Amino acid sequence: MAVIEVFGKECKDSSFWLDDVPALPELPSVPLEDVDVAIVGSGYTGMHAAIETARAGRKTMVLDAQEPGWGCSTRNGGQISTSIKPSLEKLTAKYGATRARAIRKEGEAALEWIGDFVPSEGLECDFLRSGRYHAAHTPAHYEEIARGAETLSRAEGIEAFAVPRHEQRSELGSDTYHGGVVFPRHASINPAKYHRGLLTLAQLAGVHVVGHCAVTVIKRDAVGFLLSTAKGQVRARDVIVATNGYTGGVTPWLQRRVIPIGSYVIATEPLPKALVCELFPTSRIASDTRKVVYYYRPSPDGTRVLFGGRVSANEADTAISGPKLFADMCQIFPQLAPYAITHSWSGQVAYTFDELAHTGVHEGVHYAMGYCGAGVSMASYLGKRMGQKVLGRPEGTTAFDGLTHPTRPFYTGNPWFLPATVAWYRRQDRIESERAAASS
Ligand SMILES: Cc1cc2nc3c(=O)[nH]c(=O)nc-3n(C[C@H](O)[C@H](O)[C@H](O)COP(=O)(O)OP(=O)(O)OC[C@H]3O[C@@H](n4cnc5c(N)ncnc54)[C@H](O)[C@@H]3O)c2cc1C
Repeated sequence: MAVIEVFGKECKDSSFWLDDVPALPELPSVPLEDVDVAIVGSGYTGMHAAIETARAGRKTMVLDAQEPGWGCSTRNGGQISTSIKPSLEKLTAKYGATRARAIRKEGEAALEWIGDFVPSEGLECDFLRSGRYHAAHTPAHYEEIARGAETLSRAEGIEAFAVPRHEQRSELGSDTYHGGVVFPRHASINPAKYHRGLLTLAQLAGVHVVGHCAVTVIKRDAVGFLLSTAKGQVRARDVIVATNGYTGGVTPWLQRRVIPIGSYVIATEPLPKALVCELFPTSRIASDTRKVVYYYRPSPDGTRVLFGGRVSANEADTAISGPKLFADMCQIFPQLAPYAITHSWSGQVAYTFDELAHTGVHEGVHYAMGYCGAGVSMASYLGKRMGQKVLGRPEGTTAFDGLTHPTRPFYTGNPWFLPATVAWYRRQDRIESERAAASS
């Protein structure tokens, strides 16, 4: 962790969530030479897969290039949704009605399942069925999402209701938006405490978790796989890749299919409780309809605001992204202008070319990734399903299996097109917001 300066004040460049988690437990420093299941990546995907296979008696090992949990899984916004971005209509046009419904249902299943998993395993990670307020940045977007809420309830049984602008203060202490939609089943969590809980479950199940042990080569042979790692060779019968936004050259086929994108978050200093209640009267998590979305929420103890998004076309240092995010946050909540920020951090999410998560088996290697910035429930759920697949259990099957995992010609994992795309979207968002403000 380093201390950076934001507006002349000291600010940590590490995830706010890491301030308040137990230290990592004692872990083995070297890998086992021979295992049943070797898992590359120790976030939610990898840990859930590991818990599943280890509980079934498979000798399971998780390897991470950094400390366990170093990736997105300890630095996200802690917002839990259904994680499926494309609408039923869009998916139906591509896959037909039955498959489209099945894919959308997986999102619902992941959201409901995590809500059962956390208490049933006794994990203490501030899980709260808070609901989400999804705010419209223009009147036209309000009309669209309000209509969409009706369709979701009718066609998919998803709970959602619209809140018009004149009632918005009951949901959000901001007049910037033009109304919104509430999703009561969405939830919030402390992501790092959740990850620590998973690590404990994995250890109890006998998983061998080794940090600072990058996997550099995965080679298939007649009896399984031979992995080269920073700390020696490993033989494994099955291999699972769970590297999401940090997928690299060790799996070039996957690297060509995910787009790493930086996402940025800030945390404010402790605020008066009355102010946090004014901003978040229902304690819901929040997001908006901009193409380059903002997501924000109160901290679990209701004393701070955590505000996330993407503030520049190019990837930015957290000393630069912090003040920019602060300025954007104060446009939505001018009440926060007098307060300082204490944390500014970032991480790499993985987008896909069709905005869907993907799981499958390529050349014998199992994988799940591409959660498009919404992976708390989906990474956990697909990790578990992947573990079940390795065990040969039918419950491991998902509606994502067998979908084409698209790439683009000449794309090798370096998203050179991203700055221009983000700049264009941000410009559109700004113009739309300014027009909406001028006309209201
Ligand atoms: C700032 C931010 C905010 C977000 N907010 C939300 C949110 O509010 N809600 C939500 O649902 N999702 C959110 N997400 C996304 C969510 O956190 C991720 O989708 C999820 O954590 C992915 O988990 P994972 O286990 O697949 O990957 P990760 O947790 O990223 O883990 C991947 C791991 O793979 C390791 N690795 C990579 N290559 C190798 C190798 N060769 N050898 C060994 N190890 C390797 C990395 O070191 C890393 O630890 C956010 C992400 C970020 C960055």
